[in-house]
Amino acid sequence: MALLDILEYPDPRLRTVAKPVATVDERIRTLASDMLDTMYDAPGIGLAASQVNVHERVIVVDISEEQDEPHVFVNPDYEKLGDDIEYQEGCLSVPGYYEKVSRSDKIRVKALNLDGETFELVAEDLLAICIQHEIDHLDGKLFVDYLSNLKRTRIRKKLEKQHKQMAS
Ligand code: ZN
Repeated sequence: MALLDILEYPDPRLRTVAKPVATVDERIRTLASDMLDTMYDAPGIGLAASQVNVHERVIVVDISEEQDEPHVFVNPDYEKLGDDIEYQEGCLSVPGYYEKVSRSDKIRVKALNLDGETFELVAEDLLAICIQHEIDHLDGKLFVDYLSNLKRTRIRKKLEKQHKQMAS
């Protein structure tokens, strides 16, 4: 089991647009396994490689209470099938803050699995929201980007202050 360090907002590395994975090999399988360990330890229900400073298109998600339904998506892409709903979101890179964000409540995801095979999944509700949130990370986007400037600035300043206190 390996735990990876999670970058926190407003770390500029979170704004990096991740590159597609060229080959799903042992390196990617190890990355996905370490990401799941890190996510479960946090604990969280989703993690994108961008958050652990690896800028390749890999996300992991598990919304089960028992932490026994891991999903790994390599090079994920999705189309919206549902209506937009508002849901209170949090993020391991924005610890302690929860705000309402509007996203589609049903999506079709296409991705590679850890054997490098293409698969499709229709996801609804929390699973759909979580996947959209994680794919945003791969594009350098955070849930705070959907908030008002005022709210986003308030969160950024508070986290910057915390980071300074931790460093001193
Ligand atoms: Zn997040």
